[in-house]
Amino acid sequence: MTAGAPSQDVLDVVIVGAGPAGLTAGIYCSRSRLRTVILERNMAGGQIALTELVENYPGFPEGISGFDLAEKMKIQAAEFGAELREIEAVTALRREPDGCYGVVTDQGTLRARSVILAPGVEAKRSGIPGEAEFIGRGVSWCATCDGALYRGRTVAVVGGGDSAVEEGLFLTKFVDKVYLVHRRDELRAAPIARERAFANPKFEFVWDSVPRRIVGEQIVEALEVENVKTGVARRLPVSGVFMYIGQLPNTTWLKDVVDLDEQGYIVTDALLQTSLPGVFACGDAHANPLKQIAMAVGEGALAAVQADRYLDELDCPAPGAASAAGGSAAAPA
Ligand SMILES: Cc1cc2nc3c(=O)[nH]c(=O)nc-3n(C[C@H](O)[C@H](O)[C@H](O)COP(=O)(O)OP(=O)(O)OC[C@H]3O[C@@H](n4cnc5c(N)ncnc54)[C@H](O)[C@@H]3O)c2cc1C
Repeated sequence: MTAGAPSQDVLDVVIVGAGPAGLTAGIYCSRSRLRTVILERNMAGGQIALTELVENYPGFPEGISGFDLAEKMKIQAAEFGAELREIEAVTALRREPDGCYGVVTDQGTLRARSVILAPGVEAKRSGIPGEAEFIGRGVSWCATCDGALYRGRTVAVVGGGDSAVEEGLFLTKFVDKVYLVHRRDELRAAPIARERAFANPKFEFVWDSVPRRIVGEQIVEALEVENVKTGVARRLPVSGVFMYIGQLPNTTWLKDVVDLDEQGYIVTDALLQTSLPGVFACGDAHANPLKQIAMAVGEGALAAVQADRYLDELDCPAPGAASAAGGSAAAPA
C-alpha cells in the first residue's frame, strides 16, 4: 500500500467500500494512474470475505474460497498503487463550491475530484423478539464465521434464496440437522443449490412458515415459527438461528445526497453516473438486477472508466495543484 496522504490533498478518486466492486474500481483507477484511495469501514473483501466457497466466478473451475478471492483482489489493487484505508467509515459526502467532493469519514475529510460509491449491502434483520438479544449467543448471519461453533447441534436457517440454501449446505459440514424455514412452499435458490439441499439428509424443510420468536435462557434454545397458511405454531429445538431473509443497501448516509430508489438502492444512468456529476455507483448497493460478484466486478470496472473520462473534462483542481483549503497536494502515488 502507498503511504497515507494528508487529508487536504485533492485526490482523483475516492472509492467507498472495498468489496469486489470497490476493489475492481481500485484496480482500474490505479492502472489509469489516477490517484486513488479506497475507504473501507471494516476489513477489505466485503460479503465474499465471509463466503466459504465461490463456485460461479469465472477462472476458478474448482471454486475458490471467498476470503482468498477477496485477498487476491486486494493485492491486485495495491499492486497498481491504490491506497486502501481499512477501518475508516464514510459518513457523509458533499459537493464543494469548486466542484470537488468532500468525503467525510470518521477520521477526517478527503477531497476528491470524483467518487465511486460501492458500499454494498448488509443482512436484513427480522426484528423478531430474541434476535437482537441473542446476537453472538446463537443468532448469526454468517455460517462461514460461526458454523464450526455448532458442531453436532441442530440449527435453523431462515430464508429460501441462494444465500439461505448455500449457507445451510455449508452448515451441514458441522451440524447434525438444519431446519430450513421458508415462508413459501418452494425455494428461490438456483436449481443446483436446490438439488443439493433436497438430496441432503440433514435438511428438514419447514414450508410456509415465518419465524416469530427466538427463545432461550443464556443461549438460543428454540425458534418459534408460525405456518402462514394454517396459523399453527411450532417450536424448533435449535442451538443456532441463521437469518437470510434479504438485504439492505448501506446507503442511509446517502439519503438526500444522491437519488435512491424506494428500497434505498443507488439510482444511476446506464453508465453508472448517479444524480451527482462525477459520482458513480457500482455493485450490490446499485439498483441493478443481479447481486453477484461477476456483476459487481463488471460495474466496478465501468465506474472506474467513467470516472477517468469525467476527470479528463473537469475543472476542479488536479492532484499537484494547491487545494482550496490551502494545503499542497502530494505527487500521485
Ligand atoms: C452468504 C453469501 C454468499 C454469497 N455467495 C456468492 C457466490 O457464491 N457467488 C457470487 O457471485 N456472489 C455471492 N454472493 C454475493 C456477493 O458476495 C456480492 O454480490 C458482492 O460481494 C457484492 O460486492 P460489492 O462490492 O458490491 O459489495 P460488498 O461485498 O457488500 O462490499 C461492500 C463493502 O463496502 C463497505 N462499506 C459499506 N458502507 C461503507 C461506508 N460508509 N464506508 C466505508 N465502507 C463501507 C462494506 O463494509 C463492504 O466491505 C454471496 C453473498 C452472501 C451474503
